[in-house]
Amino acid sequence: ILQLYQVSTIGLFRLKQISNKKPLCLNLTHIMRSVTLVGGGLAGSLVAVYLAKRGYEVNIYERRPDMRNVEIPAGRSINLALSTRGITALNKVGLAEAVLDKAIPMPGRMMHSEAGELAYQPYGTDGQAINSVSRAHLNVQLLQLADENEHVHQHFNMRCTKVDLDNSICWFTNSATGEKVEVKSDYILGGDGAFSAVRSKMQRTPRFDYSQSYTKSGYKELTIEPTSDGEFAMEPNALHIWPRGSFMMIALPNPDKSFTCTLFMPYEGATGFDNINTDEEILHFMNTYFGDSVPLMPALLEDFKANPVGDLVTVRCFPWNVGKATLIGDACHAIVPFYGQGMNCAFEDCVELDACLEEFGDWDIAMKHYEKRRKPNADAIADLALQNFIEMRDLVGDEKFLHYKKVEHDICDLHPDIFQSQYEMVSFSNIPYKEALDKGAENTRRIYDLIAEVNEDKITDKAFVKEWFDL
Ligand code: FAD
Repeated sequence: ILQLYQVSTIGLFRLKQISNKKPLCLNLTHIMRSVTLVGGGLAGSLVAVYLAKRGYEVNIYERRPDMRNVEIPAGRSINLALSTRGITALNKVGLAEAVLDKAIPMPGRMMHSEAGELAYQPYGTDGQAINSVSRAHLNVQLLQLADENEHVHQHFNMRCTKVDLDNSICWFTNSATGEKVEVKSDYILGGDGAFSAVRSKMQRTPRFDYSQSYTKSGYKELTIEPTSDGEFAMEPNALHIWPRGSFMMIALPNPDKSFTCTLFMPYEGATGFDNINTDEEILHFMNTYFGDSVPLMPALLEDFKANPVGDLVTVRCFPWNVGKATLIGDACHAIVPFYGQGMNCAFEDCVELDACLEEFGDWDIAMKHYEKRRKPNADAIADLALQNFIEMRDLVGDEKFLHYKKVEHDICDLHPDIFQSQYEMVSFSNIPYKEALDKGAENTRRIYDLIAEVNEDKITDKAFVKEWFDL
């Protein structure tokens, strides 16, 4: 009966026709609400599964070819750090275990000094870890799971070119055949990434807030190969960081025992992408600042010259729901990658959107609650990600900061039941990002005060810690 109340006008008309002829239960699929999902990336393919489970008929239209038919060399694809929020979202559709099976846990960060000295800092306590996963493999696992549901239909090589937000119509062009199709459904979800076609239509509606800002740094990917005997060339269970002030490099391990390195660097200036071009310049730059990594990169010169420099953008907008269309993932909140949270945040969107549908039933009402609940959290992680760039780039080599980190880690270790660092709240919990931002900032301030004003041995005293941090 509840489902009957939710059917659309067309559905009701069809239901009337059908129910005169056949038993109702056999025909509920005919009156399911339909969703056109633009973009079958990480958020799109996951939310499709959530919606299908909830009884929606979902059609995914993805611009690229089906990744399952494109060969992905083992471990050669870009990797991402998956943490608790993402795992929670995957768990709800039964995929977490399969994804973690292929993942490499990274319980801490390994800092590389210019002299090649190593310093390890655990991220959390009790072996808490973020996980290196291959973006392509994860996307394939999600598309596969979506495919297993009879209510999800996938259409590849289909680029969205136009959207009618009020009448819920999307137009797509097939990049292989040139064919154009018009698709009408009950609702539209824009999971089409940072340069979303759905959002760009929203941007032309009245009072739509929108901002995009680029960092002055871009990024380039390089590879550290396995050793000649096929082993990892560095500690595999760590996220490696080479902090160098205005620029830095990081490396995440791959299952084939290579590492994907990402060099973040300004476009301009002496140590900027624009000015490092020739073999001599590349080798001089890399040997000066990342000397310990150069012998591990046999294809350094080829990679450096062939791999493009990617841009890093922060996108903020509001509302996320206009007419019959709603945004999800990077389409409404692209963030810089320095907290490793863009995908995790996009996956958390899926959980919240599903929870709102559960709570409110009606799609339009649910979408209003979804955007209201998610927006402050998306803004908070966007800010945290920008802050973490500074922390990773400038501070992880700074003595004062390293001491602060040690005191913070000791407090976490001694009192895991009452104290969590900001990193733990963001990466190892489902505490709303906004709360992690506010609480984390306050805790940081109190730790610096503690170091300046109090004998640090006091941190062993739980009562003192409780009082000091107002817990
Ligand atoms: P996307 O993954 O971009 O998917 C959008 C999909 O829409 C794509 O498949 C695209 O082909 C499709 N599409 C686009 N336009 C159209 C159209 N017009 N018609 C049809 N289809 C369309 N996040 C983490 O959590 N951890 C990390 O460690 C991490 N590292 C990162 C490192 C880098 C260098 C970068 C750039 C990002 C990183 N991120 C990380 C962020 C993460 O990649 C994104 O937040 C995540 O991919 C967002 O998922 P999405 O589905 O919203 O968008």
